[in-house]
Amino acid sequence: MHEPYFGGNEQKYLNDCIKSTFVSSVGKYVDLFEKQLASYCGVKKAVAVVNGTAALHTAFLVVGVEKNDEVLTQSLTFIATANAISYCGAFPVFIDIDRESMSMCPKALESFLEKNALKTKNECINKISGNKIAACVPVHTFGFAAAIDEICEICREWNIPVIEDAAEAIGSQFKNKSLGSYGDIGVFSFNGNKIITAGGGGALITNNLNYASKAKHLTTTAKTPHKYELIHDEIGYNYRLPNLNAALVCAQLEGIEKILKNKRRLAEEYKKFLSSIGIKFRWEQQNSRANFWLMCIETETKKQRDQFLAESNKLGVLTRPAWRLLHQLPMYKDCLKDKQLNAEYLAERIINIPSSYRENK
Ligand SMILES: *Cc1c(COP(=O)(O)O)cnc(C)c1O
Repeated sequence: MHEPYFGGNEQKYLNDCIKSTFVSSVGKYVDLFEKQLASYCGVKKAVAVVNGTAALHTAFLVVGVEKNDEVLTQSLTFIATANAISYCGAFPVFIDIDRESMSMCPKALESFLEKNALKTKNECINKISGNKIAACVPVHTFGFAAAIDEICEICREWNIPVIEDAAEAIGSQFKNKSLGSYGDIGVFSFNGNKIITAGGGGALITNNLNYASKAKHLTTTAKTPHKYELIHDEIGYNYRLPNLNAALVCAQLEGIEKILKNKRRLAEEYKKFLSSIGIKFRWEQQNSRANFWLMCIETETKKQRDQFLAESNKLGVLTRPAWRLLHQLPMYKDCLKDKQLNAEYLAERIINIPSSYRENK
């Protein structure tokens, strides 16, 4: 669906890393990457970790998600969003998406809160279940921007921290600001299939220095600074990004604008061709710039979708339906949710099509 592209200093930095022998948990590329990522996204701090799922888990711990808490998110997303909530002993609550952005719908969020929530001095409680609503996690689906300013405003009103799942959205913007930089914390993935890759990797970004240092501490086994003694002051995690992976993703980040330009060129070609044969190609919303990570078409009916999937795969062109909705999976079927009308509508019609740009050889 989306292949990595290595066109810059990848080999050079990897060789440098091997020569230095610092391939693992210490080395200059981790620090360098954190600085460059923060600067690229226009935020104060970035913390590099082993993958996007670990970044989400860490973000939840940092803002205080605890056992039996509820975390608002959407059903149309990759499984990791809900799994990371579960790792805290908390429960996902599925808020419907809107058809325009394919991401969390601000109106649905607001009406869920008005119906179910009670605002206390510093917190928000679900007055029906009695549980704390400890975070809200909109996902920038396929790299397209959610209505993130409205979502943040509603959550501020209700004392709910916002963690942006921007795993798919590095390089995407809303109102000329990086996605991931609107919420209390934003999370990226640098898995092999994402826009840029570390082999495997992830990161948290934030303007809250306290959150950043908490995240760093928790993801490096909660080790206290000492020249030679190993002392840990809480239960931490071994979530640090190895230097070898950081070296790769440093080179990738240097080349990201070229990758984005090529993705956009491919998207424009798709749009032109598909609209000429009457197929809807999903485009970015006003006020936003998409990275076109996974490109999507939207059919009019489920039947058309199924025919398209069968035909294209028979011809050897890999196409895929959107993820199975999380509230339809056995482990999340009993979670709280509102009416999932738009999620169910889109899940039956969206098809991801090959999204790699290949340079002419
Ligand atoms: C890829 C992805 C993640 C998880 O990232 P990994 O690096 O694979 O752990 C989380 N959320 C979404 C929406 C993703 O697409």
